[in-house]
Formats: sequence, structure tokens, C-alpha cells
Amino acid sequence: MLAPNAVTPITVRAYNDTLRASLIDCMVESFSHFPWASWALCPHCLSHSVNRQTYICNGCQSKIAQHHDRSLANQYLNNLQKRNIQLIAALDGENVIGFKAFQRTDWRTFNRHKLQLPSSLISEFQSTLGGYLIGTWGMGVKPGYQQHGIGRLLMSAIEDPQIPLISRLLNNPDSATWRFHQKLGFHILHQYADKNRAVIAKIPQRMSGCISHLLHQSSVYELEKTSVHFTSP
Ligand SMILES: [Zn+2]
Repeated sequence: MLAPNAVTPITVRAYNDTLRASLIDCMVESFSHFPWASWALCPHCLSHSVNRQTYICNGCQSKIAQHHDRSLANQYLNNLQKRNIQLIAALDGENVIGFKAFQRTDWRTFNRHKLQLPSSLISEFQSTLGGYLIGTWGMGVKPGYQQHGIGRLLMSAIEDPQIPLISRLLNNPDSATWRFHQKLGFHILHQYADKNRAVIAKIPQRMSGCISHLLHQSSVYELEKTSVHFTSP
């Protein structure tokens, strides 16, 4: 098996046909396996949080038609491009074995695109954590390459030591997602009213002193408690 240091993360700037096909393969394969398997992609809000039983998106509550995985992945990729969301891919030779989508942006834009929180709260984040952030979107690692630090490598490739890394955790059946982020140093910044979703953040060291009032450590427990048990393969 490949060591993570043999994998190069590249910023995808142009999608030629080969890269595009390889990315779609990677998306389809990753999303059909643990920890993503119970979920499908939402072409509207670009989360992969559509419950495969109800076909209702946990991110935006849209009812999603049941698509073939490949066409859904294709639509997802198109929408990422349309919204100028960047992509980092991990390559083994020519093959995409993992990817992470992200957006370097400001709080209001990310709020409009993804978080959908009251603007008073966004102002509070803005004044405490600065105007800019790296917002994270979907991620996938091919099943055969998991547990080898590829996810960690992709996350560290998008990090900037100056600005916070912000993500939204949905009511995933896999607390594996949350454990992964916790290991990387994410905290819960805000929990939504329904208690199932949370904004999580990795705060640069230089800011860590001024955010204690923003972190709700107690909600970690609540989130673990509400997560649905996942039967691992
Ligand atoms: Zn959605």
C-alpha cells in the first residue's frame, strides 16, 4: 500500500477529460463505501448528506431524485465549478484517489452558500475570528486508500495558518466524520437549533486565546449522543 508521502496533492485548475473521469470514479467509489455509504450527494447544496432511505437532503431539506451515482457525481462536480469552489486532488500516478473541495472566502459568502445562520451570529464570528475563512465542502478517499493519512494530507493541504478552517457537520450516521475532524483539532463553534447540525472550526493558534466564549464544549457530548449508529462493513 501506498505511503501518504508518495501521494501528491494537486490543486485542480483545469479539468481535462482524463482528470474529470478519474475524479468522478473517485467520488463514486468513495461515496459508495464507509463512511459515506448511507448518504448521497445533494446537487443543490453540494453536501453529501442525502439520506438514501428518504432521499431528503439533511443540508437543505430538498427532496432529491434518485440518480445514478455517476451522473450525480458529474452534477456535483459541475456545481463545484459553477460556484468557484476549488478542489485538491490526491494522485497515485495519474489516478485520483482522494479529493477535498474548499473555498477561500468571507463569512457572509460562506454563510449564504452553506451555513445559513442569522447574520448577528456571523457578525460575532467575523469580529472574533477575522473576515476570512477557508470553508470546506465535500471530501472523499477511495476505499483501498483509506486509513493511510490521505484525508489528513488533503486537509493540511488546504489549511492556512492565518485564517480559520470552517466546516458544517450534519447529522451524519457516522461519528467517524466527527472523530476525524476532532483528531485534526476542530472544535464545535456553534450548534444549530435542531441539535443535529453544527458549525465546526479549526482555529489558528494565534486566535485561540480570544475564542473561548465561542466554543461550546458541552455540545460535543450532545452531538455524539445524537449520532446514529453506523454498522461498519
Ligand atoms: Zn441539499
